[in-house]
This record gives sequence, C-alpha cells and structure tokens, in this order.
Amino acid sequence: MLLNKKSVLTDRFSEIMDLKNLFPDEALSRHTSFRIGGPAAFYAVVENETELSDAVRICKEEDVRFCLLGNGTNVLASDEGYDGVILHLSGDFDRLSIREDINDGSAFITAGAGVALTQLSMYALKKGFTGLEFAHGIPGSVGGGIFMNAGAYERDLNDTLVSVKVMTGDGEIKELTKDEAKLGYRTSRFTESGEIILSGTFHLKVYPRIPIRTMMEEYKRRRIEKQPLDQPSAGSTFKRPEGNFAGKLIEDAGLKGFKVGGASVSEKHAGFIVNSDNATAADVQALIEAVRDKVFKNSGVMLEPEIRFIK
Ligand SMILES: Cc1cc2nc3c(=O)[nH]c(=O)nc-3n(C[C@H](O)[C@H](O)[C@H](O)COP(=O)(O)OP(=O)(O)OC[C@H]3O[C@@H](n4cnc5c(N)ncnc54)[C@H](O)[C@@H]3O)c2cc1C
Repeated sequence: MLLNKKSVLTDRFSEIMDLKNLFPDEALSRHTSFRIGGPAAFYAVVENETELSDAVRICKEEDVRFCLLGNGTNVLASDEGYDGVILHLSGDFDRLSIREDINDGSAFITAGAGVALTQLSMYALKKGFTGLEFAHGIPGSVGGGIFMNAGAYERDLNDTLVSVKVMTGDGEIKELTKDEAKLGYRTSRFTESGEIILSGTFHLKVYPRIPIRTMMEEYKRRRIEKQPLDQPSAGSTFKRPEGNFAGKLIEDAGLKGFKVGGASVSEKHAGFIVNSDNATAADVQALIEAVRDKVFKNSGVMLEPEIRFIK
C-alpha cells in the first residue's frame, strides 16, 4: 500500500476509533494459530457496531479491501501478508446473554462474534443448558465458528443455531434466520456473501450440569490424545471426504511425517499439517498440493482444503 494512502487511512481511522486499536504493518503470524503470515497494511481491533460500520465505509471510500479475522485458527495467511485492513471484533462483540423460557425449560443464548467457542460452551454449562459441549476445545471464535459451521463429535453449530446478526457491506444490520444463514458441512452463506457476522443466537435445552461437564471433559481428553496440540496448526487441513476420513487417506498414502520446508504432516494425526520448523505459507501451500496429489494417486479421492486462505 502506498505511503500516502497509509497516512490517509491512519488519519481517517483516528477519527472513528482509539488509535491504540490500530496496528500498521502488523505481522499476521502473531494472530494465526499456524504462527504464519506476513504483515497486514493495517490490523484494527473494532469494539462496537458504530466503529465497524465507519471502518467499512472508510475502506469503501478509500478503495481499500478488508477482511475479518476471528481467532485465526482456521486460516493460512500468505507470506506477503495482506494489502488491506484486517478487522478483528472485540469489546461489545465479546458479550454473552441469555433469555430463558420458563415454560419449556429451554434458553436462547446470544453470543457476540468475538466470544471464544470454549467460553460459549462454558457459559452454557454454567447456566445448565446442553447442546454446545462439542464446541469446548475448538479454539475459534463465534464469528469464525458460524462462518465455518464449526463442529466435532457428530455435532455442529447449526444444530442449535436460531439466527445470525450480520452487517452488510453497506453497513446495514440484519438478522438472518438459521435457514437464510445456510450452514452446511464447514460452509455457510458467509463464504460467499461477504457479510460480517456480529453475533449468533443458539437455542439450548435445560440439562443437569454434571453430565454436561463429563461430556466436555471427555471431548477434551480425546483432543489431547489424538491431536498435535503442542505444534502450531490450523486444525484439520482438509474437509472430510464423503464416506471417508482425510487423515486415514493421508496415512494410507504413507504421508505421516512427510515434509516440505518447515511444514509437515503431523505424526500424531495425519489430518493436521503442522508448522514444525518455522514454516512459511509457501511451504504449507506446497505441502497441501503434494498431499492432494499423492492421496489422489493412491485412492482416487481429491481432498478439498478446509482452511481458508488470506492473501
Ligand atoms: C488445534 C485446533 C483444533 C481445531 N478443532 C476444530 C474442530 O474440532 N472442529 C472445527 O470445526 N474446527 C476446528 N478447528 C478450526 C477452527 O478452530 C474453526 O474453524 C473455528 O471455527 C475458526 O474460528 P476463528 O475465529 O479462528 O476463525 P478465523 O480462522 O479467524 O477465520 C475463519 C474464516 O472466518 C472468517 N470470519 C471470522 N470471523 C468472522 C466474522 N465475524 N464475520 C465474517 N467472517 C468471519 C474469516 O475471514 C475466515 O475466512 C481447529 C483448529 C485448531 C488450531
């Protein structure tokens, strides 16, 4: 981005938000679980809807692109970084609220896009409602979780989702129904629409806390046992192919431990690509292509990446 464009943007952003929340030339490696990614021209922490609509308007008027980043746990950011504004939601977007229905013992929990999925599941446990146990241990945020329809252990966010509040590219706020949000297997309307997810509302049933807690602890135990949590990654690299498992296909192709540069197929779980030794995004990208190619030759299945690319 040209220097004078940067100074115009800094001036304009300083009118709408606290400058302590605006980071020029911010390394995306600091904000992604892969610990990979070059600098974003700007990284802005947005704390409320007014700031967000102003930021989106300024980007539009200055002809600068923007991209949302939640907890950065499902993305590969390029080595060149991002020549635009990365928006991260916090402040008002970190709120949780509950509305209980005393007639049928259910509750509607609304979680801001910035809330961590684990925090959301802990909140549901504390209040005594079931349906989000699986989300405990998924390291993403509610915004990224709805975008991806995060899931585990045969459950996903769509199971309990009721509605999603969004902001359009014109700064208009809308409440979408579950059907309109179109969450599918690791996909949603938002992969195409460009709308910004502000919050999600989930409908949960009352349930005793002890079995909820037991289920969450069991899921945590399974994650620790099966996943390479001690190495930077973005979780499962590939989507699960119909009737199969990406990890199994990769292992069957003899690729456990296979490396390109500093990126490797995890020895512990072949479905994970890990940053084992200062990997670049180019290393991960090349490893993804090599894995797809070798798995296709071995099994006839073409794996589709689950992770999202920021470039
Ligand atoms: C160790 C590990 C384990 C994992 N286990 C699981 C698992 O069991 N199940 C699972 O489904 N995933 C898993 N993941 C992947 C990841 O945590 C989920 O996909 C999560 O939902 C991503 O949330 P995030 O906030 O990190 O999103 P990000 O990675 O920040 O973003 C993902 C996408 O969502 C978009 N986005 C983010 N916020 C918004 C918003 N407010 N509005 C519009 N777009 C937005 C981004 O632009 C990007 O395209 C795992 C990852 C790791 C590292």
